[in-house]
Amino acid sequence: MTANALNTTRSQAIFEAAQALMPGGVSSPVRAFRSVGGQPIVFDRVKGPYAWDLDDNRYIDYVGSWGPAICGHAHPEVVAALHDALEKGTSFGAPCELENQLAAMVIEAVPSVEMVRFVNSGTEACMAVLRLMRAFTGRDKLIKFEGCYHGHADMFLVKAGSGVATLGLPDSPGVPRSTTSNTLTAPYNDLEAVKELFAENPDAIAGVILEPVVGNAGFITPEPGFLEGLRELTQENGSLLVFDEVMTGFRISYGGAQQRFGVIPDLTTMGKVIGGGLPVGAYGGKSEIMQMVAPSGPMYQAGTLSGNPLAMTAGIKTLELLKQEGTYDRLEASTERLINGIIQAAKEAGLAITGSSISAMFGFYLCEGPVRNFEEAKATDTERFARLHRAMLERGVYLAPSAFEAGFTSLAHSESDIDATLAAFSESFAAIT
Ligand SMILES: *Cc1c(COP(=O)(O)O)cnc(C)c1O
Repeated sequence: MTANALNTTRSQAIFEAAQALMPGGVSSPVRAFRSVGGQPIVFDRVKGPYAWDLDDNRYIDYVGSWGPAICGHAHPEVVAALHDALEKGTSFGAPCELENQLAAMVIEAVPSVEMVRFVNSGTEACMAVLRLMRAFTGRDKLIKFEGCYHGHADMFLVKAGSGVATLGLPDSPGVPRSTTSNTLTAPYNDLEAVKELFAENPDAIAGVILEPVVGNAGFITPEPGFLEGLRELTQENGSLLVFDEVMTGFRISYGGAQQRFGVIPDLTTMGKVIGGGLPVGAYGGKSEIMQMVAPSGPMYQAGTLSGNPLAMTAGIKTLELLKQEGTYDRLEASTERLINGIIQAAKEAGLAITGSSISAMFGFYLCEGPVRNFEEAKATDTERFARLHRAMLERGVYLAPSAFEAGFTSLAHSESDIDATLAAFSESFAAIT
């Protein structure tokens, strides 16, 4: 695989036109490539592990629509099921049987979930779960971790990781101080800091929310005892523990990070994989808490398109595919081979690197490790990453356009795709030293 000067004429024309139509030319900031520079690639179509741009360049894709494409893009069984569902209409605004099906699958899969409510995005799920934490405990404060992203709701836009970090915005204008004054933050993997926050705010903290494995500040794994420690601290203080598994749900294992690590939170948020490429989010947990949600209970939360049959169908099919024997073993093995190969290639080029993977999620930093929190992640060489990103594009590999995003593999990535990717890394690392 050799570098060719990428012809991106049509991508450039469309992206240029987009500038006048949408802020920054995009519907979500990171897509604009601001943190890696250069023109973003405008996609035409995706299939399996591949994406094609408007100029018909093909890329092996490690973004996977930021997580949903764990079975590979446009999986034939998902597409066929969607065709059938389409004929029956796209939105009912009334109960539909498919909601029961997906709800039952989620409840069966995710240890903490006894009841679930469907919404349309991860952001919505996190907004709702915060309201629920507060409604259930009668307390207002929450603890989040530096570098963790929980969607773009006001209360969470404090030290919120990748998208915000790479644009260098410590916070966002338009978020009133009064809205974030109840948001307390601690460094990831730092139990002592959490203990102090509890001590300083007795009987005031509704709960602790975190990414049980961080994918929005690069890729950071919980140190042994960290998740267990949070479970104990929240219990001791009458607070709720919430795992934001929008990224890790059905990816770190079929039952999410909570199943993999054996730590069971009170509430869980989901998104991305659960919608199989259509807009779905969900939150769920103990029945006792979920019964607070309207119309069972007084906590209001609603959605016109929530639980629509099209989105439920994509979710059901995707989970059915994931549930098959050996799925996660395969994902784990190929992702491990990928990250080990990346680390080796960087070292052969004489570059500092630290990286790891769990299941179908991986990440690396261009610096010496270890990286245990966002502060340490910032040591990564972002300028060099930008050059790496471009070099990989030129060799037909699409990485997330930010040094602070995790990578995603899928069941569709074959051994030869991984080989081709590693060859591209070897060349690219050599080209950027
Ligand atoms: C992507 C993400 C969200 C937000 O989900 P959207 O569907 O983009 O609104 C929330 N939390 C985590 C951990 C995420 O990765």
